[in-house]
Formats: sequence, C-alpha cells, structure tokens
Amino acid sequence: MKHGYHCEECEDAIWPATTRSELLWLRNKQHVVQEVARHLQSGLDTWMVEALDFLDRHSGHSVVIVRRP
Ligand SMILES: [Zn+2]
Repeated sequence: MKHGYHCEECEDAIWPATTRSELLWLRNKQHVVQEVARHLQSGLDTWMVEALDFLDRHSGHSVVIVRRP
C-alpha cells in the first residue's frame, strides 16, 4: 500500500517513497521542516524534498493524504 499527497484543487498527486505517518508529520510541520532544511548542509531525503516541493506548489490548496492499493 502506497500513500501520497493529492491536491483536490489541481487534481495533482505525488507518491513519495515513505509512510503515511511521515507524510502526515511533514504536512503538519511543513514550515518548521522548510526552515530547518535551509540550514542543513547535507540536504534532505529525496522523498522529503519531493513532498515539500509539492506542498509548496500547492500551498493554500486543499492537500489530502490518499492511498492506493
Ligand atoms: Zn493545487
């Protein structure tokens, strides 16, 4: 089972390689993580970069966590 973000307004979705709880955590802490990421030298995990980019592009939109079998 794979989980991802889905923007209800753009009908756009991504499926980062991570768990539902991590996606939930990132969505709730988006701004904190973005701030921390700015100060990191080593960079973030790929899924996190991908997910943050999606949340950023769809900020202000209704982004939900969906799953596909
Ligand atoms: Zn959107």
